[in-house]
Order: sequence, then structure tokens, then C-alpha cells
Amino acid sequence: ESVVNKIAAGEIIVAPVNALKEMMENSIDAGSSSIDILVRDGGLKVLQITDNGSGINKEDLSILCERFTTSKLKSFDDLSSIQTYGFRGEALASISHIARVTVTTKVKEDACAWKVSYAAGKMLGEPKPAAGKDGTVILVENLFYNIHSRLRTLKSPNEEFAKILDCVGRYSINAAHVGFSCKKFGESHFALSVKGNSNSRDRIRSVFGRSVSINLVDLSLEVAELGLAARGQVSNLNFISKKAISPVLFINDRLVSCDPIRRALNQVYGSFLAKGNKPFIFLSIRIRPDWVDVNVHPTKREVRFLRDEEIVERLASQLEDTLSKVDT
Ligand code: ADP
Ligand code: MG
Repeated sequence: ESVVNKIAAGEIIVAPVNALKEMMENSIDAGSSSIDILVRDGGLKVLQITDNGSGINKEDLSILCERFTTSKLKSFDDLSSIQTYGFRGEALASISHIARVTVTTKVKEDACAWKVSYAAGKMLGEPKPAAGKDGTVILVENLFYNIHSRLRTLKSPNEEFAKILDCVGRYSINAAHVGFSCKKFGESHFALSVKGNSNSRDRIRSVFGRSVSINLVDLSLEVAELGLAARGQVSNLNFISKKAISPVLFINDRLVSCDPIRRALNQVYGSFLAKGNKPFIFLSIRIRPDWVDVNVHPTKREVRFLRDEEIVERLASQLEDTLSKVDT
């Protein structure tokens, strides 16, 4: 049984960045306005995320790392979202099968924080009182310690750190109301540090630099009959860069990739692309959760959705319209 869980977990979490992404989403879902990330050895030794969100009730700690433990399905209506929205209560369970997980958490009604560790889905002993601020610290240690084949296929710690940093940067663009920091263990300087209450344009500058951010136009689109609302910033036609940045694409606040959208938007840039330029694209799409299928790939990155042709078509023509109104 535990071998099955371990193998399943190793398919959802294939690199430290996958674990971090799940934990960042949890912190954002918990209403945090500040998220701090600490990384040692590319996340293999230590991956720690500290947030100031809701915290977790002490009574809920015993099942926290069991499969299908989720606090995010509040009504019967939401059941249709179980498979689609990514709320399946599997992330922490998976991580606990391939790493040591220690949670320190405090809800504001409690006088102190509670701290407890997990292995293989189970709580180890009882939660102990601990010092801590409101919010949650999740410490993941020795990721993949029991999957040697996975350890062998990973890139160097520096490359794994680069993937983590890229992922944090992307989330900071979409969740611009949240402050983020990310640093390597033992280093005093932050690889990324941005304060809360910002906007996505400023975040794009912090993460990808000024030359990208000054050449952006706002893109927005609402299509009621498709249950679709999209906002973002994309390169105007004055932007010259040969360096490709994969689209920063969020669907329902989950960082995803979606080939149909990527292809359609790229096509709109046409001659711009032909000159070898690579546009920057940030798009945050909200769509009826029961229309999204995030389960195409175990790591949930590639998504598909219902009525995708119509949706992609509308996005592309909106982009065309937006670009045509900009002076070049
Ligand atoms: P899901 O996010 O799909 O519900 P997870 O395994 O990612 O499943 O998390 C399980 C549950 O643990 C969440 O539903 C939430 O109640 C709780 N949780 C996890 N991380 C945090 C956090 N940082 N702050 C508050 N609650 C959290
Ligand atoms: Mg989650």
C-alpha cells in the first residue's frame, strides 16, 4: 500500500518545484498576504514556505496529510469541482509520502502555534505547542529520499532552484496583492522579494525586467455566455526580444500551460514573430471550473477545457484588436 502511494506521489511531484507550486496555492487559498520561501539544495534538502494566512485548526492536523483531506469543498455544488479545480486534497498527502513534512500553524483564536511532523500520510505523535505567528509554516525535508531513481534524474541544485524562482515569480505576477520572497538557505540576499498590494505590471518588471514591462498593453475580455473573464498584459509590437519567455498563463489562479491558447496568441503576432521577436504574454483567465480539465497530466500543468475553440478564438481576436490600437 505504501509503495503504491509512494509511486503515485512521485508521479504528481516530479521535481521540488511541483511541491512548491502546490504549497504556494494552498497559502494563497488561505488568504495570505505574505509568503516567504526558503530553499536548500534546490529544494531537495529543505523547502520551507511561511505564510500569514488562516492557519490550520489543531483538530484538523491529524488528517492533514491523508488523501482527500480538503477544506475547499463547501457545498454540494462544489463537488463538480473536485476533479476540475485541483481541489482534491492530494498535494500534502503526496508530499508526505516522499519527504518529511513538518507543519507549524496558528489560527488567530489560539494563544500558541501547534507543531507536528508527518511521514507516509500519518501524523507522527501529537501536535506540540510552539512559538509562532498567525499563519502556517510548512517545512519539507529530504524530498525524494525514498525514490532514488527520481533523485538521479533531477537537474543540479542550481537548476532546480532556478525553476523554483521562476515559479514564484510567475505566481507573484498573478497574485499581485500578495508579497513574496524567495531565498537560498544560508544566503542573506533574496533571489526575489516583492511587497504586497502591487499590480501585475510592476510585478512583471520585478520578475522579467524593465524592457519587458515598458512594452506591454493591457488585454481584457469578458464573455458572459462562455463564463469567461480574462485580464493580462502582453507585448506590444514595439517589443524586441529574441529571448523566449514561456507564456505566464493562469487559469482560475493555477499556473498552467495550454497549447491551443499559446498557439493562437502566437499566431496573432504573425510578422512580429517572423522577425524573430518573442512576445511576452501574461494572461489570467477565469472560467467556469466545471469546464476545465486540469487532469490531462499528473502534474496538472497542461489543461484542456470545454468549448476551447470558441474561447481561444475570442482571446485571439481580442488580442488582435488590442494590438491594432497601439501605435507602432
Ligand atoms: P487541497 O488544496 O486540494 O484542499 P492539499 O493537500 O493541498 O489539498 O491541502 C489539504 C488541506 O490542508 C487544504 O484543503 C487546507 O485546508 C489545508 N492547508 C494546506 N496548506 C495550508 C495553508 N498554508 N494554510 C491553511 N490551510 C492549509
Ligand atoms: Mg492544495
